[in-house]
Amino acid sequence: DRVLIGNKVSEGHVNFIIAYNMLTGIRVAVSRCSGIMKPLTPADFRFTKKLAFDYHGNELTPSSQYAFKFKDYCPEVFRELRALFGLDPADYLVSLTSKYILSELNSPGKSGSFFYYSRDYKYIIKTIHHCEHIHLRKHIQEYYNHVKDNPNTLICQFYGLHRVKMPISFQNKIKHRKIYFLVMNNLFPPNLDIHTTYDLKGSTWGRFTSLDKERLAKDRAYRPVMKDLNWLEEGQKIKFGPLKKKTFLTQLKKDVELLAKLNTMDYSLLIGIHDINKAREDDLQLADTASIDEQPQTQAPIRSGTATVVRHFFREFEGGIRASDQFNNDVDLIYYVGIIDFLTNYSVLKKLETFWRSLRHDTKLVSAIPPRDYANRFYEFIEGSVDPLPQNKKPSSYKDDP
Ligand code: ATP
Ligand code: CA
Ligand code: CA
Repeated sequence: DRVLIGNKVSEGHVNFIIAYNMLTGIRVAVSRCSGIMKPLTPADFRFTKKLAFDYHGNELTPSSQYAFKFKDYCPEVFRELRALFGLDPADYLVSLTSKYILSELNSPGKSGSFFYYSRDYKYIIKTIHHCEHIHLRKHIQEYYNHVKDNPNTLICQFYGLHRVKMPISFQNKIKHRKIYFLVMNNLFPPNLDIHTTYDLKGSTWGRFTSLDKERLAKDRAYRPVMKDLNWLEEGQKIKFGPLKKKTFLTQLKKDVELLAKLNTMDYSLLIGIHDINKAREDDLQLADTASIDEQPQTQAPIRSGTATVVRHFFREFEGGIRASDQFNNDVDLIYYVGIIDFLTNYSVLKKLETFWRSLRHDTKLVSAIPPRDYANRFYEFIEGSVDPLPQNKKPSSYKDDP
């Protein structure tokens, strides 16, 4: 059984009401958006819809336990996007809202965003900053076109952009707060352990996660996200043979071009590695220690409909892509890769940060650099990180081949 991540957000949790309102809003707004699909018009990319919820409900909105307002951004566009990504509308709603239970990620990023997983771990809700939401709305058409033209894009899949407005008590005062959030795909599989995770930016400035090596060996739930310096220190490579390498880098280049064009920076390539042999060892160990009735019960599947199968080069094997050697043969690792966190606009703030930091450091090390430079540095770093197998691990029988 896989290691569960995060804390359950159920009734009584500090963020339960926020989560409840988010899910109620999604349930009502998404199920409402279900007529015949018409070709999108430019207006669809600007359209927003507001809903008001309260305890009594009315002919437009069903009753809700709490009073709040909900805003749905370009619902028709996201509906198209979900269809493009092969999601079944009923499945989507069931996964997110069947039980109103989410898991909150233990360590939200330093941006202050919160992350919630749907109960089946397929979807992630991320709260975002107002300016990130502006950035996405401004470029939603370009995002849509890119996804449509690039079925194998590495860019994270977005399924919905919403806002809840609700009273929140802060220092004994009640204030109405607006919370913007995105629904996106969990890049990692719900049913397999990810043994190692890297978040790579191509920058070395502050890009190190210190690890508790002892704990790492013992505690399966301790899976810190490592960064560029860890990657370099460990001499890590993405092990793709020539065929996969070419497809990967070609797609990466296109994706990065888009992000540069959108004036975006600070994004990462998220890489999760599932080690097939390690998983096998873990399973044997578990089978040894657990008697039959102690074994974790498998959760009943909560999917209802049938999703259309949309093929994706990087999700063909257990939702990820197998590593390969220099002869394009499979290696016992599965990668889960995607570009995340690409809604940071190169704003005045970043320009200032670049200025101050560049006074003291080589700009190659700095994280906040103009989008074009960021894109080049990012691409070059990843390009230099793809290599089928380290020289000394080449299968010996091939060594002397011409
Ligand atoms: P910061 O701006 O400080 O980097 P953030 O709050 O914007 O942080 P992200 O960079 O989006 O957060 O994500 C933080 C971490 O959450 C990632 O390093 C990754 O481990 C996890 N994560 C984010 N998005 C996904 C996703 N789509 N699938 C799986 N894991 C994700
Ligand atoms: Ca980030
Ligand atoms: Ca961020």
